[in-house]
Amino acid sequence: MKISELFYSIQGEGKRTGSPSFFIRTNHCNLRCKFPGGNLCDTSYTSWFPDDDKNIGEVEISDILNEYRKFNCSDIVISGGEPTMYASELSKLCKELKYNNEDVFITVETNGTYSGEFVNYVDLLSISPKLSSSVPYETAHEKMHEKNRINTDVLRKFNSLKEDGKIDIQWKFVFTSDDDVREIKELQEQTGFKNRDVYLMPEGITAEDLNKNRSGTIEACMQNHFNYTDRIHILVWGNSRGK
Ligand code: SF4
Repeated sequence: MKISELFYSIQGEGKRTGSPSFFIRTNHCNLRCKFPGGNLCDTSYTSWFPDDDKNIGEVEISDILNEYRKFNCSDIVISGGEPTMYASELSKLCKELKYNNEDVFITVETNGTYSGEFVNYVDLLSISPKLSSSVPYETAHEKMHEKNRINTDVLRKFNSLKEDGKIDIQWKFVFTSDDDVREIKELQEQTGFKNRDVYLMPEGITAEDLNKNRSGTIEACMQNHFNYTDRIHILVWGNSRGK
């Protein structure tokens, strides 16, 4: 499995915020987010620049399991990049983690463009569909990103798993303007997810960005009955690797 980094930290976003967690960050992404104002995503070393020489590279699943055992916390977060690009390896990894470790709680963070068998072994699916505000206009990736960023069939399927009680899901969106809320509501109509499972987070890759964008994001949450989530790892460590 292509890995960017393996590390122990605190979950900084969403409903498990504050949980001590082992992070498995895969390398490569099928999208290239770039937000108004020019910020790339906070893990651009996995998406825009996957050849960054600090990314670990190919790692056997058994070696990932051995690294996890050094920390042995309950929460495991599989993130990226886009981990669902490695469908069969991701399923195998989740299965091994689930059945070889007691009391483990697995979160998979995804942009929601691919599904797979992994959903059978996951406790929380954290889906961050990418809205129009993520399109990297006037770059070589603009058309590819626009074409691939939303897969309504996959999102609908995920929501049905939640409604059938098979998995918990949170829908996390980067908030940049009221246009984002309009798109979120369109997605809700198309796929059925509920306000109580929606989290808005301020856009930004520095504490300054988040401080500037926080109050507008909270206002949007209050007006639309969504949850607010901060991004604690960025507040504490900035846009650092391994945090
Ligand atoms: S989908 Fe996620 S990892 Fe991929 S470019 Fe966007 S924010 Fe970065």
